[in-house]
Amino acid sequence: MAAEKQQAKLVVIGAGPGGYVAAIRAAQLGSGVVLVERKLLGGTCLNWGCIPTKALLACAEVVETIREAHEYGVKVGEPVPDLKAMVERKDKISAQLRNGIAQLLKANKVEVINGTARLLAPDRVSVETPEGEVVVETEKVIIATGSEPARLPTFDFDQPAILTSTEGLELTEIPKSLIIVGSGVVGSEFATIYNALGTKVTMVELMPRILPTEDERISQQMKRILNKKGIEILTEVTIEEMVEYRADGVKAKLSTGEVLEAEKLLVSIGRSLNSSGLGLEELGVELGQRGEIVVNERMETNVPGVYAIGDVVGGILLAHVASFEGICAAENAMGLDSKMNYDVVPACIFTEPEIASVGLTPAKADERGIETRIGRFMFGGLGKALAMGKGQGFVQLVVEASTDKVLGCQIMGPHASDLIHEVALAIRMGVTAEDMGRTVHAHPSLAEAIMEAAEAAHERAIHAAPSRK
Ligand code: FAD
Repeated sequence: MAAEKQQAKLVVIGAGPGGYVAAIRAAQLGSGVVLVERKLLGGTCLNWGCIPTKALLACAEVVETIREAHEYGVKVGEPVPDLKAMVERKDKISAQLRNGIAQLLKANKVEVINGTARLLAPDRVSVETPEGEVVVETEKVIIATGSEPARLPTFDFDQPAILTSTEGLELTEIPKSLIIVGSGVVGSEFATIYNALGTKVTMVELMPRILPTEDERISQQMKRILNKKGIEILTEVTIEEMVEYRADGVKAKLSTGEVLEAEKLLVSIGRSLNSSGLGLEELGVELGQRGEIVVNERMETNVPGVYAIGDVVGGILLAHVASFEGICAAENAMGLDSKMNYDVVPACIFTEPEIASVGLTPAKADERGIETRIGRFMFGGLGKALAMGKGQGFVQLVVEASTDKVLGCQIMGPHASDLIHEVALAIRMGVTAEDMGRTVHAHPSLAEAIMEAAEAAHERAIHAAPSRK
């Protein structure tokens, strides 16, 4: 059967937070935008990543709050988590958001084709749909095909006890025990969820510390907090061999010789990038060592008219980065001139307490030879945090000594993922610690911790004892 033919100005492949945002931005600038998606609108973020994890983390927080209710003067019984109901709630939230995206695409006159896309030429895209092949002739293409969980050959992923993050979000019975391989962002969030639900969690990390890419002080404090919750953490250890797969669990031999047993084992060791099967090699699109599509600051590949964005270009694998890259590529594809800038990208980890960072850490500033002043403030000294029963953690502000400009911030504490944006804007606008510390912050609020940290950079925080000289 001959393929159906269609014309477009722009084809976007993949409808994750990179692709659907790119399609909407392009449609704001002109007509003729086609968006191709082989699974679900919203991609990893909305269906198997950011939103589902946060939905389950919210359930975990309710369980923890009930457990700690006596500390707030409330007597309740032991909570009974119902994971099946929690997963149904999560699915409902994802479906609601998918529906919202579908409405937005429709309102912006973006045509959505359900199918798997492949480039035949820089200006021709073939889409395999359930009804047959559609070939779209187009002026420009944006590739936004994202990533999948990375799979190590050590593990047999056909075994029901072996999970990636995707299956980790679909369990309907709470496992009694869980080994998590990898203690990065995803591993730490899953540890937080299942620990709260009553699972005995053991984390196995190859590097000397958990959250290895975070500021060292944060990773040390988080280790203590997770240990206190009963999570066992093994660092500088790998899984050497899977000794046994059973219907009700696994046995894994560690590099130390110890054998660990658990009902489930979740592998969270990073992502593999979806750049194969798209016809890129045939077109001569340059790929890097991890299969990432190589792009410039305008999100252009080396093939004119072909752009790439989001996880598939490697770099920072975060939803908001994918969306900003999508806006940049869409504007360039539609004739504007836009460039990506990665200097101010907040990154958040939704553990309990949360972690958020932006800009330079003290170590990174040192590496660059920048002389800094560090302002720290503990949430334990803040009225609002104590009133909430959330006094763990701190704000750490990195300030350039010569200019007083704020260069970075690391927060561990309540609502860190919301607080970080005051500092992100400050860094972007070249704000000084003086400006931040002398901006009146409402009392009692968590944001006062940022004001106090800015004042601490000048050794004049009111609610912290002066550092010993
Ligand atoms: P994706 O979201 O992966 O979307 C790509 C889409 O392309 C998919 O829908 C796929 O089906 C489609 N596709 C692929 N190939 C084709 C093809 N040939 N034809 C048609 N369609 C195709 N990031 C955050 O910022 N905050 C978080 O809290 C966060 N939490 C996370 C938690 C987990 C468990 C995971 C796994 C990730 C998390 N992330 C988080 C990362 C975030 O999900 C990704 O960075 C983001 O989804 C990347 O967006 P993207 O558009 O590049 O790709």
